[in-house]
Amino acid sequence: MRAIRADKSAQLRLLDLQTVDTTLAQLNHRRQVLPQHAMISKLRAERAALASDLVAADTRVSDLEMEQAKAETDLEPVRQRLSRNQTRIANGAVADPKALSSMVEEVDHLKKRISDLEDAELEVMEQLEAAMSGREKLRARAEQIDADLAEAIADRDRHLAALDAEISELREQRAEIGPLIPSDLLALYDKIGATHGGVGAAELRARRCTGCQLEVNAAELRAFSAAAEDEVLRCEECGRILIRTAQSGL
Ligand SMILES: [Zn+2]
Repeated sequence: MRAIRADKSAQLRLLDLQTVDTTLAQLNHRRQVLPQHAMISKLRAERAALASDLVAADTRVSDLEMEQAKAETDLEPVRQRLSRNQTRIANGAVADPKALSSMVEEVDHLKKRISDLEDAELEVMEQLEAAMSGREKLRARAEQIDADLAEAIADRDRHLAALDAEISELREQRAEIGPLIPSDLLALYDKIGATHGGVGAAELRARRCTGCQLEVNAAELRAFSAAAEDEVLRCEECGRILIRTAQSGL
């Protein structure tokens, strides 16, 4: 493998780039795991379930409204007949005693029929009242969820905007640092980073690779100490580019 060479300053810039890239990765991760995302999906699921409950409640209310209207329609001809009979009895229109007695009997029967129909209608009205009040509760709950959802979305967007502002600032830094690093070193850094959790370069600090945290062995340390300043070192354990600094302990 052809050894890559790069000025000490370029190597230090690579370490700066790594810091920026690591922070960018953390920010992108935070962007994805914001607790507001989970909150929003929970509220959306709740709202969707409530929407179908509301459809069912609307159906129940309109069914009962129709039932009540039908009860009223059923009552109408019976009431008319009762009133007609009562009028005829009152004004003596029925002369025949037998016919009169049967009409009086029918009046009693009609009164009973009306009372039964009214009881049935009353029961429907009570059910309708309960159905409407149940629907009101669902509507109020839906409004509350809509409000919570709007708040959670606004909260998420505020957090995303703050993270995006940080991200865009770091991208600017990255754009400034990139050109200061030789392209072959940058390509190696990208290649290693792709298979090493985004960390292609690590500082050699106190004789330890800060990429894998392992201590560099004595033989390797001697080789590192003897290496030219512009020689690009690699960690023997993890393969990352090792950058020497004043804290390396060489
Ligand atoms: Zn290492």
